[in-house]
Amino acid sequence: MNKNNRFLPSHGNDHDGNEMNGTKMGAPVVKDLVLVGGGHTHVEVVRSFGMKPMDGVRVTLVTRDVHTPYSGMLPGFVSGFYKYDECHIDLARLSSWAKARLIHVEASGIDTKARRVQFAGRPSIPYDVLSIDIGITPGSEQVPGARQHTIPVKPIDRCHRLEDERASRKHQQLPPAEITIVCRGHILAGHTGYAQRAFIGIMRQKGIKVIEHRKVVRVDEGMLTVEAPKNGSHMQNGGGAQANGEGHALQQQLLQDNDNTVPFDACMLCTQASAAPWLKLTGLPTDPQGFLAINECLQSDGGPPEVFAAGDVASCAKHPRPKAGVFAVRQGPPLSANLRRFLSGEPLEPFVPQKSWLSLVTTGDKYCVGTKGWIGLQGAWLWTLKDYIDRAFMRKYGEDLPDMMKMMSGPPPPGKLLVQSVDFFRAFWDDPYILGKIAANHALGDVWAMGAKPVSALALAVVPLMTDRLVAEELTQLLSGAVEVNATSNFCKIA
Ligand SMILES: Cc1cc2nc3c(=O)[nH]c(=O)nc-3n(C[C@H](O)[C@H](O)[C@H](O)COP(=O)(O)OP(=O)(O)OC[C@H]3O[C@@H](n4cnc5c(N)ncnc54)[C@H](O)[C@@H]3O)c2cc1C
Repeated sequence: MNKNNRFLPSHGNDHDGNEMNGTKMGAPVVKDLVLVGGGHTHVEVVRSFGMKPMDGVRVTLVTRDVHTPYSGMLPGFVSGFYKYDECHIDLARLSSWAKARLIHVEASGIDTKARRVQFAGRPSIPYDVLSIDIGITPGSEQVPGARQHTIPVKPIDRCHRLEDERASRKHQQLPPAEITIVCRGHILAGHTGYAQRAFIGIMRQKGIKVIEHRKVVRVDEGMLTVEAPKNGSHMQNGGGAQANGEGHALQQQLLQDNDNTVPFDACMLCTQASAAPWLKLTGLPTDPQGFLAINECLQSDGGPPEVFAAGDVASCAKHPRPKAGVFAVRQGPPLSANLRRFLSGEPLEPFVPQKSWLSLVTTGDKYCVGTKGWIGLQGAWLWTLKDYIDRAFMRKYGEDLPDMMKMMSGPPPPGKLLVQSVDFFRAFWDDPYILGKIAANHALGDVWAMGAKPVSALALAVVPLMTDRLVAEELTQLLSGAVEVNATSNFCKIA
C-alpha cells in the first residue's frame, strides 16, 4: 500500500484477510458509509461491499425490519406457495457475512448539516456518506377509516390477518370468501392493454369482481364507500381493459348492484403509496410527491453530495420510471459503484434505467400473465420461469453467498463472571447502543443473581482501531445505552 495513501480506501481484501492490492484487513476506520433501509437496492450494496470491502470504510445498515421481503415473491407468499423464509432476505445474516454493522431501528430524521441519522429515543449516529432506500409508506392516511379497517400490503407480516380470515371461514364451514377488486383507474395501471384484458378475463373465470374507475372515499367496518371520478374519466381513458367492451359491461353491472358501497369481511389496501413524511423535514430536495429527488448518479439532486438514494423512495426527473422492485434491484450495482467512486474521490457515472422490462404478474394459481414491450403471453410455464428467476435472486443474498458458513461468526462466548460484577464479552451485536444496554443489563443481572446490591459501575470498552472522532462516537453510543439502563434501574449511585 502506498504510504501516502494510508487512509485512502483501496480496492480491498477478501474475507480471509488475504492481501489484495497490497492491503490487509484491519485497516483503521476512517469513513462511515451508512445505509438507511434494507430495501432491494441496499441488499446489493451490502453484498457488493462484502465481496469487495474498501479499506478504511465501515458499512452500517440501519433497518426497521431484519427480514426484508422480496417483492417478486410476495404474491406467491400470500397465495401460500412460499414460506416466510423463502421470500425474505435475512439482513442480519447478510450483514454478518459482509462484515457490515446492522443497527435494527427505524430512522426518524437526518441532520444533513451535522451528518447524522436520527432515531426516536436513542442517540443519533454519524455518517460520512449516506444512502437511503426505505421504500414507501402505504397511503392509508389518504382515505378516512383505511388505517383502522384495512390490511396494508406492507409490512407484509400483517398479511397474516388475511390468513386468519381464511382459516376462520374454513373453521365455520363457510364457503370461500368472495373477492372484489376496486381500482381508481384501470386494473394493472401502467401495464399493457394485453395484460389488463388477460387479467380481467382470468379474474372473471375465478368469480372475482373487478370495479374500475371508482375512487374509494371512505372505509367503515365491513364497508367501502366509492364514488366515480367527477369528470367521468373512465369513459375517456380507453385503456386495454375496456378495449373489447368486457370490462365496461362488467363494471356497469357492478355499479348498479352495489349502489356505491362494497361490503367486505377483510379488505387489503394496495393504493398509491407515499414517501415517509419525515423526509420533508430533512431539507433534502424532493419531487412534488415528496419522494427524494436524485440525479442520474443516484445522488441527491441539488442536496449534499454525500447523500444518495434509490428504490421507491427516490425519483429521478431525467429518467422517471414506475415504482417497482425491478428498478430498485437494477439500481443496486450502479449505486454500489458510485458509492465506491465517491468514497475514493473519483468522478461518478450516470445510470440510465431500462425502458422496457419483463413484467410477470401472478394470478394466484401458479399461472402468470407476462408482457415485455408489445409482446404479451400467459401460461403456467411463465410461473415456472418467474419462480426460477425469483429463487435465483433470493439465493444471491442467502445460500449462494461465497463461503457463507465459514464466514458466519459462531455463538457469542459466555461472559466472564466475577463477584465484584466485572463482566466482559465480545461485541456479538453490531449496534453499540444496544450492546451498551445489553452489557449494563447483563452486569446488573449477575449482581442480582448473587443476591448482591449494585452500588457502583465502571465501564471498560475496547473499540476497533479508528480515528479519534469515530472512537468518540462509538463510545458515546455504547455508554449512552449503558447509562440509560442504569438511569432506568436507578441502582448504581456511582457510574
Ligand atoms: C404485494 C406486493 C407485490 C409486489 N410485487 C412486485 C413485483 O412482482 N415486481 C416488482 O417489480 N415490484 C413489486 N412490488 C413493488 C415492490 O415491492 C417495490 O417497488 C419494492 O419493494 C421497492 O423496493 P425498495 O428497495 O424501494 O424498498 P422496500 O423493498 O420497501 O424496502 C425498504 C426497506 O427499508 C426499511 N425501512 C423502511 N423505513 C425505514 C426507516 N425509517 N428506517 C430504517 N429502515 C426502514 C424496511 O424495513 C425495508 O426493509 C410489489 C409490492 C407489493 C406490496
